[in-house]
Amino acid sequence: MKILVTGGAGFLGSNLCGRLVRDQGNYVYCLDNMQTGRMENIRELMDKPNFQFIEHDIVEPIELKVDQIYNAACPASPPAYQADPVHTLKTSVFGMLNMLELARKNDATVLQFSTSEVYGDAQVHPQPETYWGNVNPDGIRSCYDEGKRAAETLCFDYHREYGVKVKVIRIFNTYGPKMDPKDGRVISNFVNQALRGEDLTVYGDGKQTRSFCYVDDLIEGIYRMMNSTDEVTGPVNLGNPGEFTMLELAEEVLRQTGSRSKLVHKELPKDDPKQRRPDITKAKQLLGWEPKVALREGLAKTIEYYRGLMGRA
Ligand code: UDP
Repeated sequence: MKILVTGGAGFLGSNLCGRLVRDQGNYVYCLDNMQTGRMENIRELMDKPNFQFIEHDIVEPIELKVDQIYNAACPASPPAYQADPVHTLKTSVFGMLNMLELARKNDATVLQFSTSEVYGDAQVHPQPETYWGNVNPDGIRSCYDEGKRAAETLCFDYHREYGVKVKVIRIFNTYGPKMDPKDGRVISNFVNQALRGEDLTVYGDGKQTRSFCYVDDLIEGIYRMMNSTDEVTGPVNLGNPGEFTMLELAEEVLRQTGSRSKLVHKELPKDDPKQRRPDITKAKQLLGWEPKVALREGLAKTIEYYRGLMGRA
């Protein structure tokens, strides 16, 4: 099986590449433009005979012979995707078009890494796949949210028009090893702040909620989705339904790190969703999947990873 992973040096992409390379029957092409990807994430894979890194931006077309395409390329942290919003939108839309065309030529399956952001500031809780969302089309998150929504549209139009095999997953907040310590997401921020003895930056009153999935659980769900029957196109939510406020998260990080850091409140970013929790009924039924790692346990492994990075710095 020849497999392409776009965004393969990023947080999810590199964790996925690691999983796929373990199977000697696979040959893995890892594509990344290194905008937010990190060489460090794939260093251990570089000398594997069934792994190849290609520096490339999926906004431009690419020719490869492949059987499966995991399209994970796109900066996903709000500060990262807002740094060059036009390019973010291009990555989702032009990148998706290029991957769908590649799949069409190869008769390959494309799995699109979509996002819970398609639900925006959800008015339905928890969010099932049937909910159409509440997204601001003109705000600072729109380049990401609307780009990912348009990418889903492209998948289903290519499926209906040209019979391309597509699979769309909507990923809820995920954390774990290989997330850039400077990513800007809440878990990487809190843990690194706690380990450095700096104040933990809680945005707004900290009562907004998120549901955090440990990366190994997510990768298992993604793998099962790709290898499900062609009829399973999605969209399918993947995430951990355990829901926490940012204040609860901060307390758990302080408890586990033993840090004496204080909490400091900062302004809530614009259009920041108030609550988010996946309804994973569909993933359970179609993939026999549900997360196994509780936040407490996943946080411990994540803290260990960031401690290791600091030890080397
Ligand atoms: N957040 C926070 N402190 C931080 C980073 C994020 O309180 O240092 C909040 C953010 O406002 C949001 C939640 O944590 O309500 C999750 O943010 P993140 O950027 O991790 O992911 P999002 O779900 O917003 O894409």
